[in-house]
Amino acid sequence: MQKVLLVRFGEVHLKGLNRPYFLRMLTENVKRAVKDLGGRVWLSDSRIYVADVEDMDECARRVSRVFGVYSVSPALEIEKEFEPIADACVEMMRGYSGTFKVLARRSDKRFPVTSQEMNEEIGGRILDANANLKVDVHKPQHKLHVEIRDQAAYICAEEIHAVGGMPMGTGGKAALLLSGGIDSPVAGYELMKRGVRTCAIHFQSPPYTGELARDKVLSLAKILGEYGGGMKVYLVPFTKVQLEIHEKCPEGLGTLITRRFMMRIAEKIARGFGAQALITGESLGQVASQTMDALGCTDAVVSMPVFRPLIGLDKIEIIEKAEKIGTYETSILPYEDCCTVFTPRHPVTKPKLSTMPDAESKLDVEALVNEAVENTEVVVV
Ligand code: ATP
Ligand code: MG
Repeated sequence: MQKVLLVRFGEVHLKGLNRPYFLRMLTENVKRAVKDLGGRVWLSDSRIYVADVEDMDECARRVSRVFGVYSVSPALEIEKEFEPIADACVEMMRGYSGTFKVLARRSDKRFPVTSQEMNEEIGGRILDANANLKVDVHKPQHKLHVEIRDQAAYICAEEIHAVGGMPMGTGGKAALLLSGGIDSPVAGYELMKRGVRTCAIHFQSPPYTGELARDKVLSLAKILGEYGGGMKVYLVPFTKVQLEIHEKCPEGLGTLITRRFMMRIAEKIARGFGAQALITGESLGQVASQTMDALGCTDAVVSMPVFRPLIGLDKIEIIEKAEKIGTYETSILPYEDCCTVFTPRHPVTKPKLSTMPDAESKLDVEALVNEAVENTEVVVV
């Protein structure tokens, strides 16, 4: 008998011919997550198993944060003999109270006791041993799963929901424009959840933005990185671009032109490391630069897809997500973002794309972009 973690995967099931590839990636990612716990990980009949770990709670916590995992259950692996299985079930249910139900499944039909017989016999023995439990077959508080598989039997009474999504690395590569705010970390998380390997790009404008802003962004990247494979952060010096825009462009379009430069620079960096898309935390109508007209003007300067997973969410919904993924507390620390430094008093909310070339005509766009990209610093968190 040994403790194991049963790992169930969700949507990976649907992947048809690519299924073996998705499962291989998922198994590798689970391995990486439990590596320093010394866990042994294997894939067998539509399930991943983790064994040989001392701290099963920590193991469950880690694996439940691996994208592609639907739920996990700390379980016992037992030899396929009825008596030891029944004894272990009674033991497992000793600390519980309330209502329960036994759910036996026998995928190995050579096992001599049927599922229904197991439900009844094991259920009866649990009732005899624990006066605090009652059977409720319709809406039980606790479900004791008993599975007779080919290699062994497994029993478990807890199912912990995991993050879901797709295995990291199966969704391509993208660059997240990461500010120190609440939105962009959530946007990054949403794409990472779909299996997208994500690097972060942050624009800083010293001396207008300080060390604090930089540390904050690195902390956010670190939290995101814990969901899979760490994170690389590209820190772009942005002061010169902002000063030039401030001096040489119409004031009402300052923020929008700033956003256009962010996109151009981000695209160039992204291509440099083989990314296929950009991700931002924009949400429709949140600020002047996020109206539909403004987004059209920002998109026009890049030729790769720009993903905005928060486009239809309210701030309250975004905050809830940020709290859930663990970035909120860091995001609300005070800091100066480069965007807030030169905010125009009356930003244009319905900019016309046709007016953009004229508004930017006094700038050497290419030189500014190249200079920023060349002086970008890379930090791995
Ligand atoms: P956040 O959206 O992260 O909460 P915010 O709402 O203050 O911050 P906006 O000014 O609305 O940010 O900018 C919209 C999006 O542009 C952000 O979600 C982010 O993707 C990107 N962005 C803004 N500032 C920066 C920056 N300094 N570095 C990198 N990306 C940025
Ligand atoms: Mg925002």
